[in-house]
Amino acid sequence: MQHLSRAAREFDYIVVGAGSSGCVLANRLSADARYTVLLLEAGGPDTSPWIHIPIGYGKTIFDSRVNWGYETEPEPDLEGRRIYWPRGKVLGGSGSVNGLVYIRGQREDFDGWAAQGNPGWSYDELLPYFRKSEHQARGPDAFHGADGPMWVSDLSEHHPLCEAFIASARRLGMPPNPDFNGERQEGVGYFQLTTRRGLRSSPASAYLRPARARTNLTLGVRALARRVLFQGRRAIGVEFEADGEVRQARARREVLLSGGAINSPQLLMLSGIGDAARLARFGIAPVADLRGVGRNLQDHLQARVVLKAKRPITYNDVFNSPLRTLQAGLQWALLRRGPLTVSAGQAGAFVRVMPDAGRPDVQFHFITFSTDRPGEGLHKFSGFTASVCQLRPASRGRIELASADPKSAPRIHAHYLSAPGDLEVLREAVRLARRIARTPPLADLVAEEFSPGAAADDDNALDAFIRGTALTIFHPVGTCAMGRGEDAVVDHELRVRGVEGLRVIDASIMPTLVSGNTNAAAVAIGEKGADLVLQAA
Ligand SMILES: Cc1cc2nc3c(=O)[nH]c(=O)nc-3n(C[C@H](O)[C@H](O)[C@H](O)COP(=O)(O)OP(=O)(O)OC[C@H]3O[C@@H](n4cnc5c(N)ncnc54)[C@H](O)[C@@H]3O)c2cc1C
Repeated sequence: MQHLSRAAREFDYIVVGAGSSGCVLANRLSADARYTVLLLEAGGPDTSPWIHIPIGYGKTIFDSRVNWGYETEPEPDLEGRRIYWPRGKVLGGSGSVNGLVYIRGQREDFDGWAAQGNPGWSYDELLPYFRKSEHQARGPDAFHGADGPMWVSDLSEHHPLCEAFIASARRLGMPPNPDFNGERQEGVGYFQLTTRRGLRSSPASAYLRPARARTNLTLGVRALARRVLFQGRRAIGVEFEADGEVRQARARREVLLSGGAINSPQLLMLSGIGDAARLARFGIAPVADLRGVGRNLQDHLQARVVLKAKRPITYNDVFNSPLRTLQAGLQWALLRRGPLTVSAGQAGAFVRVMPDAGRPDVQFHFITFSTDRPGEGLHKFSGFTASVCQLRPASRGRIELASADPKSAPRIHAHYLSAPGDLEVLREAVRLARRIARTPPLADLVAEEFSPGAAADDDNALDAFIRGTALTIFHPVGTCAMGRGEDAVVDHELRVRGVEGLRVIDASIMPTLVSGNTNAAAVAIGEKGADLVLQAA
């Protein structure tokens, strides 16, 4: 891998963004020695140890050295609160700072994409890409690959609270599920994580590191793409800022945007691709009038039921004690096991809460510690959390330019709970979390419900709790949606409509949010996107 020098000006492909999709692209394209590839990343190298230690996700979430640290505009249906939106700004992108939970989604999600006019994107057609990306520690089977770069592993141990959560959920009729990414997603069980022997398997460690020796791959870190350069309607390169200088690189073949669900639409708009009338307000000359850019924003909103434990067995108890923290540190350093190897979810469940749901409509993330907000200090009491999110919200938001300056953050309107029905699903999910907590054996370990608190019982009180406390679970997608309609930004081969030589390949192309965490799908999009690019070469 070469480092970007002032001399290097022309490449076959330029990839913008070294995140979950961009690292895959850089690896797969540069595997063919005939092509030269430039990978531009606004963030720096992934040297912070907290990126690699799984629990470090709680540290990097607010660390502006590796995180864009966005926030939404005041959300009208969340009491006007601005919601903090972390996004990775470092090699590996959000895949270097995420919660490591490995979930692909439901078969029907991808079949839905295909049915909306996107041939090639059904579940059966994407499964080979999920398998190709995966190094499944349990070994291969019909659903899992074991030769891919990204490691997927089981937790090193099963905490008694997780065991009790699973047992109580089963008592309420939820089927056990040893593999949420196998035959079916529904049920309760343990998450698998993107870890390799107790360390994060990030897009950068999985896909970039193995490509280190390739001389046809050039990496520019701390290089912020400012706009795509066009000759007429053909993308011919990228203007970027690095080392305090504005520079240009040319792409002989294609420019590939992998900046993620916030930055890819922003960069398109800065480049003149978007709603022409709106762009004119910022003095940006239109290249293609595509009103869908930045629209169709979807995200998972989480409500968190926090429970006080009867005994000091939670990770709050571990990390609030210097001695036990030291022990946990030693356990990780010597054995790569213990509390430092967990992250945003240990046990989980995919359940149907609405009577008419034909497939799971809610996901549980069960964790053996508690905070007011992810990444904030742990509660001083022995606490643990059952977080719930609606899997397929109907609400839609948008990303807009706030300024023509590439360094200023765009405006994020998530519009959570703006569609009728979304609040109801979340309310019923909170009720179910409560029912599980009140069912033995979990009930035997619960001292009391900390939040929403037993007093919040009727619909109004639960709605107020949700509106006052719900937060993102960090899965924004959909802002450069793939499809055929008026609002589609890319076609089924991820080519930006109305121009040539330009694709978007990242989570922003999902027409609808997958029913689960989004990293695995972003990596699979990178894998399929690389194939599409190479097939066209
Ligand atoms: C805190 C957090 C927790 C999460 N937890 C989970 C989880 O447990 N499981 C899961 O599956 N998913 C999780 N996710 C979501 C998942 O990580 C993302 O959906 C996925 O990484 C998105 O991939 P992407 O390639 O679209 O974007 P990203 O991975 O965000 O990559 C975009 C990259 O482009 C760079 N970039 C942007 N603009 C420019 C520019 N103008 N010039 C140069 N570079 C640029 C960025 O710095 C970044 O590196 C989480 C995300 C966050 C933030």
